[in-house]
Amino acid sequence: MRFEDYNIRAEIKRGIAQLGLKKPTDIQYKAIPNILNGEDVLAIAQTGTGKTAAFAIPLLSILSRKKRRERGDGIRAIVMAPTHELALQINQVINAIGKYTKLKSICLVGGVEQDPQIKLLQAGGDILVCTPGRLFDLHHQGYVQLKRCEILILDEADHMLDRGFKKDIDDLLRFLPRQRQTLFFSATINPEIKKLAYSLVQNPIRIQISPKDPISKNVDHAVCFIEMDDKRFFLERFYNEHQSKKILAFVRTKVRAERVVKAMERVGIKAISIHGDKVQKERSAALNAFINNEINLLIATDVSARGIDIPGVEFVINYDLPEQAENYVHRIGRTGRGKSRGQAISFCSSSEKQLLEDIEAYTNQQIKELTLDKAEYLQTIDLAVGNSKRLDDLLSEIEEIEEFRRKKKKSKK
Ligand code: AMP
Repeated sequence: MRFEDYNIRAEIKRGIAQLGLKKPTDIQYKAIPNILNGEDVLAIAQTGTGKTAAFAIPLLSILSRKKRRERGDGIRAIVMAPTHELALQINQVINAIGKYTKLKSICLVGGVEQDPQIKLLQAGGDILVCTPGRLFDLHHQGYVQLKRCEILILDEADHMLDRGFKKDIDDLLRFLPRQRQTLFFSATINPEIKKLAYSLVQNPIRIQISPKDPISKNVDHAVCFIEMDDKRFFLERFYNEHQSKKILAFVRTKVRAERVVKAMERVGIKAISIHGDKVQKERSAALNAFINNEINLLIATDVSARGIDIPGVEFVINYDLPEQAENYVHRIGRTGRGKSRGQAISFCSSSEKQLLEDIEAYTNQQIKELTLDKAEYLQTIDLAVGNSKRLDDLLSEIEEIEEFRRKKKKSKK
């Protein structure tokens, strides 16, 4: 089946075609007809499966079937997402697919000025894509009308719970009509998520994509045993061997993200970081520099990069192994998006072996090992500019001390 054969409006098909999408992915095939029928949906699917279009296409179709009410009547659908980046991205996809319709989607996220968002709301929008904070701010100030909202979509609900948004979801429900269609998307499922899901949806259609093997078939992934202090030399080598390819490297903390960027800069490699200590403007600038190939190495933390769709990432490197096994799936799912292929390599130090075991248990598979013999390992460290810089620094330090001693001796004489 192709999108052309779907019972949706021609202008939406035009938007889909312009994005280059021809045949539905698994989740789209399963979700779109049910959503079009007005059913609630509970879908377990990770990013990379095409889940954004799986709800965006029927959402736009449903809203364009009915005649738009007067402007100022309030918005008709809400998409709630856990991070700014994800919200911005979803909004982009909705507006791209809906380009030839009269529907408008507005993105409300914090970290940027609210006035332009207020102007957009005043001009009238049909769909809001938001993170909780800014939505509530503007709602309290009276700029957002929610009583006509017909459709609620929660994306990455598991991540929303991780980020402590449970109360925000409950608060949002108080403002929405009881009679509505609810679509609930989560990458993982556990009793807490199930409980939340069933408090929101009614007689949902359940869709689960690849539950046993959560890793995209498009990603070749492997692990390489590298000690903590040596990781930067291997990142340097990897970068140099794959110049002009897009590499996304994950680290455990914001501080480590900055350190890795500095270590790379010291050896002449341009890298940029994205993490929660950066303001929205800086995060967007970093992402754009990476997307536009100005910088090919992006160092990210889990929170900042989860769910975001960066086109053309060829490699994901787990510079640090994730502490939560499920994040392994999210991280390596940043490559091999849609129908393209990708590669992922994890740098595992001896102190991270337990994390590797957890990941293997979670993903139900043993991760292939890329073996480095001792000579190759030592050679990587020896050849690294970073290491020679370290040696250079050491030598010049010794020279300085010797010089100091010589001067001291002279002055004593
Ligand atoms: P998502 O899971 O929504 O983050 O989508 C992941 C990627 O899959 C995006 O880059 C989409 O452009 C791509 N994609 C979505 N639907 C399709 C499709 N039907 N055919 C090919 N690629 C798709």
